[in-house]
Amino acid sequence: MHQNPFQVLHPSEETSGGCSSTGTLPLPSRTLSAAQEGLKKYFIQTYGCQMNLYDSELVGSILMQSGYAPTNSVHDADLVLINTCAVRENAEQRVYGRIGELKSLKTENPDKVMGVLGCMAQRIGDDILDRAAHVDLVAGPDSYRRLPEMLARIESGEGQQYAMTLDNVESYSEVAETRSPGGLKAWLAVQRGCNYACTYCIVPYVRGRERYRPIPEVVKEVERLVATGTKEITLLGQTINAYRDGEQRFDALLRACNEVDGLERIRYTTSHPLKMRTGMFEAMADCEHVCEFLHLPFQSGSNRILMHMRRGYSYEEYIIKIAEARSIVPGLAVATDVIVGYPTETEEDFQRTLDLIEEVDFDMVYNFMFSVRPGTPAEEFEDDVPIEVKKERLQRVISLSKTLAQKKNNGYIGTTQEVMVDGIAEKKWDRRLIGRTRTNKPVHFDGDESLLEEIVHVRVTEAGPHSLLGDLV
Ligand code: SF4
Repeated sequence: MHQNPFQVLHPSEETSGGCSSTGTLPLPSRTLSAAQEGLKKYFIQTYGCQMNLYDSELVGSILMQSGYAPTNSVHDADLVLINTCAVRENAEQRVYGRIGELKSLKTENPDKVMGVLGCMAQRIGDDILDRAAHVDLVAGPDSYRRLPEMLARIESGEGQQYAMTLDNVESYSEVAETRSPGGLKAWLAVQRGCNYACTYCIVPYVRGRERYRPIPEVVKEVERLVATGTKEITLLGQTINAYRDGEQRFDALLRACNEVDGLERIRYTTSHPLKMRTGMFEAMADCEHVCEFLHLPFQSGSNRILMHMRRGYSYEEYIIKIAEARSIVPGLAVATDVIVGYPTETEEDFQRTLDLIEEVDFDMVYNFMFSVRPGTPAEEFEDDVPIEVKKERLQRVISLSKTLAQKKNNGYIGTTQEVMVDGIAEKKWDRRLIGRTRTNKPVHFDGDESLLEEIVHVRVTEAGPHSLLGDLV
């Protein structure tokens, strides 16, 4: 019986957020062995970014070591956990809605334990416990090791439990060693926390300061994952290119992972423009398994707004970094994040954002409307750009980025791409399989299901703004 204890929900892209991308991949299923039948069961629903997906896997490992087994049914579960996102306001509202929905389960079975994890738990855990008496526990991102102890206390009748202390050394190293995502693609967090203080972002306040896992430990984990069938690793960190292990930087980590036998592809997310170093681009170019894809949020094209946001770079400096990256890494695809409607943003400021999008000629633009997050420095500013103006600017960004993406993708027509086959295409496509190029473009093509999880070559015949169509070579 296949069990998937994780459900993935995406936050709305309505408001501004941290450096994490909103793109996610489905988590692998797990099998409940006969030996696990009869154990207590847990179910985790995950909101937000890749780091949260990864954290849900860590929590799964912690629970399995404490005698729990996964289930894909919220009704069967003895323990229901929601792993939350605080980056966007409307994600929090949705979580509150979900917490309310779960109340009936508790009414049906008062022994069922309900918990809220993640960034929202860290930010407003007290409020959650006050507002939702049926929630038994809240635990922030640095407190998951305490879950077994908290569950024992709940079982012994000690009432609601909370753990919201940030721990600037916690990186869950030994827990990660027991994680078994068991799929073609796996996340691997190498850095947690963020040392920046961008005015609009809640991440530093709910995830604490940066900390990094040592290179040998990361390599060991990559080897272990590859031995279980993983072919693609995405290294995760809130500002991953700030990574360091002693004197060694992110480029050394890329080079070390590249040496792991059997690993086909290495991706990473998300980078900060201030930490883009030449050595990192050189490592990307030198390492055959590191994919030619860079996600580098710029947020605004206006130097005045960038300074206000405390991003620490200018329009011109961002352009120079991209030019350097492209000169060193042939065929590099570049994605970015942009925020429209930041406080005081004028039409002239916004025009600079459009200028930057056009000048860089991005492959993909993730766009967000600003909305203030309580607890961030931006809370002090007047949210003075009318919502109609924000929406209109968002549409202009979407329209421009779609045109540019179409143009970029047209350039793939007639080329042959290396594609990792990762699924069956949705019915609306007349091709059976779907995979991704090294540059992270989805490609639809026909082929036998035996090609799933294989790396094949596809000749691109058609292109849309979001994906490519092609024929197996
Ligand atoms: S650098 Fe840190 S503070 Fe700035 S957006 Fe990224 S996660 Fe948030």
